[in-house]
Amino acid sequence: MSQYQAPLAEIQFVLTELAGLAQVAQLPGFEEATPDVATAILEEASKFATNVLDPLNYSGDQEGAQWREGGTVTTPAGFRDAYHQFRASGWIGLNKSTEYGGQGLPQLLAAAVEEMWHASNLAFDLCPMLTAGAIEAIELRGSEALKRKFLPNMVAGTWTGTMNLTEPQAGSDLAAVRTRAVPQGDGTYKLQGTKIFITYGEHDYTENIIHLVLARTPDAPPGVKGISLFVVPKVLVNDDGSLGARNDVACVSIEHKLGIHASPTAVMSFGDKGGAIGYLVGEENRGLEYMFIMMNLARFSVGMEGLGISERAYQRAVAYAKDRAQGKAPGLAPDAATGMIIDHPDIRRMLMTMRANTEAMRAVAYVTAAAMDNAHRNPDAAARKAHQAFVDLMIPIVKGWSTELGQELTSLGVQVHGGMGYIEETGAAQHFRDARITTIYEGTTGIQANDLIGRKTARDGGTMARKVAGEIAAVAAELARQDDVSLKAIGTQLADATTALETAIDWMVPAYGAQPGAAHAGAVPYLRLWGLLAGGWQLGRAALIAGKHLRDGTGAAPFMKTKIATARYYADCLLPQAGGLARTIVAGGESALALAANEF
Ligand SMILES: Cc1cc2nc3c(=O)[nH]c(=O)nc-3n(C[C@H](O)[C@H](O)[C@H](O)COP(=O)(O)OP(=O)(O)OC[C@H]3O[C@@H](n4cnc5c(N)ncnc54)[C@H](O)[C@@H]3O)c2cc1C
Repeated sequence: MSQYQAPLAEIQFVLTELAGLAQVAQLPGFEEATPDVATAILEEASKFATNVLDPLNYSGDQEGAQWREGGTVTTPAGFRDAYHQFRASGWIGLNKSTEYGGQGLPQLLAAAVEEMWHASNLAFDLCPMLTAGAIEAIELRGSEALKRKFLPNMVAGTWTGTMNLTEPQAGSDLAAVRTRAVPQGDGTYKLQGTKIFITYGEHDYTENIIHLVLARTPDAPPGVKGISLFVVPKVLVNDDGSLGARNDVACVSIEHKLGIHASPTAVMSFGDKGGAIGYLVGEENRGLEYMFIMMNLARFSVGMEGLGISERAYQRAVAYAKDRAQGKAPGLAPDAATGMIIDHPDIRRMLMTMRANTEAMRAVAYVTAAAMDNAHRNPDAAARKAHQAFVDLMIPIVKGWSTELGQELTSLGVQVHGGMGYIEETGAAQHFRDARITTIYEGTTGIQANDLIGRKTARDGGTMARKVAGEIAAVAAELARQDDVSLKAIGTQLADATTALETAIDWMVPAYGAQPGAAHAGAVPYLRLWGLLAGGWQLGRAALIAGKHLRDGTGAAPFMKTKIATARYYADCLLPQAGGLARTIVAGGESALALAANEF
């Protein structure tokens, strides 16, 4: 079995050359993110991923989390210990506020580290990831008392966090939430209801679990405007910070599912014995609004799952392709010895597709993370606003496109293995199964695409979308001006693809209001087109930078050559899909909706 190795040279290149770590480190509060500190953190994270998390990935999948009578959950062998090492090493607080014990480092650096956790053990990292979401909710909108009571222990990882949104009748449409929260007159509420699919809703890592729960108060208006957000601890916390009585919260069962077996997916029952005590976050009826603020980070993290698992599947496929002898590549003499499958052009095509898409996802995600840091910390208000607008556009793309690619690339990983890919012991099948959830939770691809065409494209008349398309066109033009044949060719393909994107934007903006059915039928292809172009844009930038290094004789020449070759593959073999996607968006809606529901 292959061993995960974080692609440190590639990660450093993207962080420093594409995402601008040096600029981010100059933002107020991020001064400690010097190149030396960044390198030390990346190397430590890489060792933890390789030595602690990766070896547990397969056994964790085979054993799975187990629910026991009485509502306890046991995680697979080694996971509890790994969590305690993870916590002791301070990984949970890496980018959390120093006020509550975190290290306050940039999201950009945290993203690179997060990629390694997702790549080495997706099921493990879901617990810290959900904890980060719960921390953010309390930090952004919780009272000072709530923050003091819960955040230090959550940032330290002594307690973990969950997000309890989904109910049997409320999935994509959270307006349908029914869990009730009744005020007790003493500032607390009593909650009653059932939540399903709650990641790490119960486990054996820590004594306490802090649940963030969406519920309705008795007088709440119907729909989206009547939902509030509550902190509901598994074990009540006394005023002196010590643990008190057990709250009325129970894990009724956990799900048997396709992948991420080591991550318990819990059915949670609140208030079976009279009501679970909860504390309101912010104001009543504004819970969904708060969730939307938090969603950027949560959706970004799930997009990073698509990237991480694709990188892992790629590494495993490369290792197998170099080791498996079968047939002879075309062009070899009839008496030549049997070669390795990596010499077959079709295997090369698959590996290049995995590599180019993975590098594209990484570049797009890290550039978005740098914009998140600027949106929060840039001293210039206009710059903060511009970065936030860019982040808002990119989040559904990072989430939707990267996770959809995760399906395809992990599937290619199975294909490279041939029959052995279908057999669990190679590990390729696990990546394929684990990746499958990422396009579903934290908003399905359809929901991301609706967000992209509506709030992110049509709402401002396409202004932000056209601005970014213009930046892509400028990179294409710069590539086309280069003497190098490969760079020129990348520029030509990128320019053609950008024209396709502009055509799609020009159609989508009026269609969103005038032909809502057709616009929504084209939403996922539109998201896909955006991802394809965002990836081409960033790989085009990478090729320009690599070309300059080669001309100047700086940097590692073999690495720079692979950057250009990978960008050229993306341009020649993947970017031409843009024209087809644009045609599907503009002309496909009517056909998609041609049959009535009763004709299926
Ligand atoms: C393993 C796992 C872990 C999870 N973890 C958590 C968790 O920790 N906390 C939590 O609260 N939830 C969690 N979830 C729930 C998850 O977020 C939901 O499953 C998801 O939001 C989809 O909701 P649904 O399952 O009800 O599907 P539905 O909303 O019923 O969707 C079914 C299909 O209809 C489509 N659809 C629905 N509405 C629209 C629309 N408006 N436009 C276009 N298409 C639409 C969807 O895209 C999808 O293809 C988890 C789920 C799983 C399986």
